[in-house]
Amino acid sequence: MSENEYLAREKMRALQQERLLNLVPRLYEKVAFYRKRMQEHRISPADIHSLNDITRLPFTTKDDMREVYPYGLLAVPLAEIEEIHTSSGTTGKVVVAAYTRNDLNIWGEVMGRTLAMGGVTEKDVVQNAYGYGLFTGGMGAHYGGQHIHATVIPISGGNTRRQLTFLQDFGSTALTCTPSYAIYLAEAAREAGLDPKSFSLKYGFFGAEPWSEGMRQEIERGLGIKAYDIYGLTEIIGPGVASECTEQNGMHVNEDHFYPEIINPDTGEALPDGEKGELVITTLSKTGTPLLRYRTRDITYLTRGTCPCGRTTVRMHRLFGRTDDMLIIRGVNVFPSQIEEVLLSFKMVEPHYQLIVDRKDSLDRLEVQVEMNEALFSDEVRNLEGIERRIESALASALLLHARVRLVEPKAIPRSEGKAVRIVDKRVL
Ligand code: ADP
Ligand code: ZN
Repeated sequence: MSENEYLAREKMRALQQERLLNLVPRLYEKVAFYRKRMQEHRISPADIHSLNDITRLPFTTKDDMREVYPYGLLAVPLAEIEEIHTSSGTTGKVVVAAYTRNDLNIWGEVMGRTLAMGGVTEKDVVQNAYGYGLFTGGMGAHYGGQHIHATVIPISGGNTRRQLTFLQDFGSTALTCTPSYAIYLAEAAREAGLDPKSFSLKYGFFGAEPWSEGMRQEIERGLGIKAYDIYGLTEIIGPGVASECTEQNGMHVNEDHFYPEIINPDTGEALPDGEKGELVITTLSKTGTPLLRYRTRDITYLTRGTCPCGRTTVRMHRLFGRTDDMLIIRGVNVFPSQIEEVLLSFKMVEPHYQLIVDRKDSLDRLEVQVEMNEALFSDEVRNLEGIERRIESALASALLLHARVRLVEPKAIPRSEGKAVRIVDKRVL
């Protein structure tokens, strides 16, 4: 817990302003990329007098980060960097995040907050099933657990059998992994004849990929725990940017370190609280690879005001999707999470699905493959076609989208130990 989570609004703004006014000249002096960018925008650090002036500063994009790969955004000599992580590179060349001791301390602090917000203390045993390595999930949760003196088991992702054995034998009280892997663990436990409710597990901290309220309920029921949404990205720090408190009503942004703005992704204009748009983040206190107004491509909105938990930090809504994950099917914009919500309103299907997009005679087609549950699969009088049509019409009325729905056998969709693959785009554009 940190007093910065409870600051009055003016005090928070004063702290953010002080940090911004320290950051801008530092970037101008130390990072050629930012100096050039500011010069192109005809702005110098002397023009930035207050927090409100932040909107005069240029954005940073993922492409910028790729252009200056690998070390072009370093604001300190390489000798001061203690750790390097990169994004998975699924959407192109990897982006690099370099951490100084200061940055690793911040990471531990914000991930410590994330776990503490859900109730984790030094008495807890955290089974950390995020992958260790370049992916930030593993180390981030590890540092957070250490920061609040919890017991951390660095089991990493995968090896499901061993995960279950550890959950039983070590009395793990907290689980950290992707939400899709949590679902998979619950399923594997049932298959092994184990009752997850007999485990000591109390809460889980799930993020790194999109998931829905429906999936939250599945996980909470399946594992008998409270499931918290946690958010972050490699470029900013990894996990630890924002997370839910026990209210489970929006994620508190660690805005003393990560200053959030919402913009219209098409025009770059700032949007007011409550309006959905692209999240932009400035790292106020990082020293290794600090970023100015980084465009996350993630879609959400912000809410201010004191939360019933007492924290005053701004909250961001569960992600609606990301601008580059948005499918445009015959002109209709859809995010996988919207489809997931509709699917999970049907009790006879499982939260394992894939969206297959292709194009025939220059028309986009979307097929939604979703697993039926065991009960439906073994039901003799099942009427699969009837159910498929019902899901199709629910999708059509919720999303104004015609998609073909295909029920597939249990286990037909490939499982992932990390981020699930939801979209298979076969269109050749
Ligand atoms: P990448 O997947 O681009 O290689 P990261 O591993 O850093 O890089 O992933 C960060 C991205 O993961 C975020 O920008 C966001 O789109 C997604 N993400 C992270 N946490 C969540 C969450 N709780 N809900 C939905 N999406 C999330
Ligand atoms: Zn709260």
